[in-house]
Formats: sequence, structure tokens, C-alpha cells
Amino acid sequence: MNVLKVVLHSIWIIILTLLTQIGGLIWIISLLVSTKFKTRKRFVFPALYLLCNLILVPPIAKLFGRERLPVFAEHIQPRNWVYPLLFRNYVNPNLKLLLIKTSDALGNDNITLTYLDANFPFINGFPLFPHLSHNDGKKIDLSFMYLDGDNNSSNKKPSLTGYGVYANSDNNESSQSCIDQGYWQYDFPKYLTFGTLNDLKLDKTRTRKIIEQLLNNPETQKLFIEPHLKHTLDLDHEPKIRFQGCQAVRHDDHIHFQIK
Ligand SMILES: [Zn+2]
Repeated sequence: MNVLKVVLHSIWIIILTLLTQIGGLIWIISLLVSTKFKTRKRFVFPALYLLCNLILVPPIAKLFGRERLPVFAEHIQPRNWVYPLLFRNYVNPNLKLLLIKTSDALGNDNITLTYLDANFPFINGFPLFPHLSHNDGKKIDLSFMYLDGDNNSSNKKPSLTGYGVYANSDNNESSQSCIDQGYWQYDFPKYLTFGTLNDLKLDKTRTRKIIEQLLNNPETQKLFIEPHLKHTLDLDHEPKIRFQGCQAVRHDDHIHFQIK
């Protein structure tokens, strides 16, 4: 293997590790397997990756205290298949139980709880890039609810990834003030939509229901949404809803939720 190849493999391993935690390791094993058995890497890697994703990692992660969230359940699901495919839907057993209980209760109101980034399967302290705090199985990002163009309740979301489309409310000043103070990263999620649907607007009633249902659980530690949304959703009296600070990213495109 020449030097350029080693460098390219190393960069690829770093990227896979940042995006999926164990994808880089699977790449290394694929290299070894394909060299030993003289088979093609392009077949070995996808096969081994899927084997790990679907069959091997869930039970092993469970031994270490992380569980995979449901992918096809009726009332709780990922924004899209990319989250489970990239090993980004693992939480600790308490958070899993809480989310399933919450989604069952919300199901009575015809609400499906949609999750975005949670945590990786292994190692407390290993952050789920780019969320530095999602590193202990106790954190998860969740989508708001939206009304479609005819003002009907819908499970559609305005961005393909679930991030980056900001909900308008009666005043967006709090978010603007962080941008004005020079926190450039605050507005960065707008580059992470990977495609948008424009005719949706925030469903205040059902978004509020999700937040209230989450706050109902005694294990809840805190929840981040933008101050202007806290006000618009009439949740000013809730002490567990906090402002994440200007050094993070804005939270009028999703809810950040964490347990004790
Ligand atoms: Zn978060």
C-alpha cells in the first residue's frame, strides 16, 4: 500500500468514525478480510456494515447499557432511515422507556414522535458529532409538529434531515440577538436541511402537547427550545425548559431533550 492510499484510508476511517462511531472499525475489518480472502472490499464492507447495524451491534450495545430506538413503531420513528443506518439512534434504557411511554400517550392524540440525533451505541463521553453533549445515552433531539398548506395536522416535517428550518413565531428576536453578537455557528443548521418542504407551519397545539408530555416524566432533567418559542407555545411557566445559550446552535428547528 502506498503512502497516498494510507492517507486516504485514514481520512475515510476518521469520517466514518465521526458519522457512525463504529463504521471506521468496520472499514478496517473489511480491509483485513478482503485482503486475507482476496475478495472485493466493495462487497465486504456493505455486507459487514449491515450485519453489524441490523444484527450484531444492538445486543452488544445492550450489554453496555445502550438500546436502539424503534425504527418502524407506530407512534415513534426516526425522521428517516439514515439515523438508524448511521447508528445514531441509541439511548440508555431509561430514556428508551420514557420515549416509548411518551409516544404511547401522544398516540392517543394522533401524534407520532419523530426523533433525530440521539447517541451512538458505545462509550460514555464519546460525542455524537456535531452534538458534543449527546455522549451519555441521556440526550435526544425531537421534531416539532406541523400543519400542512390546508391547515391540517400532519406528520410531515419541513426539512429532510429534520434540522435547519426555523419555526416562525410572534417574535424571533432572541435568536437574532445571538447572531448579532457574532456567534456564527448559532445559525449554522440552516445549511443542514439537505432539502426543504415549504408549505408547512408550526402546529403549536400538538408541539406543545409533545413538550408537556415529555415534562410529565419525573426523570426529565431539561429541554431546550428557543425563548421565543417557549413564549409562543405558552410554556413560560415551565422551569425545565431552558435556553441553551448562544454558544450552542439555535433550537427553533427541533427540541433537545435530556434526562437525569
Ligand atoms: Zn440535542
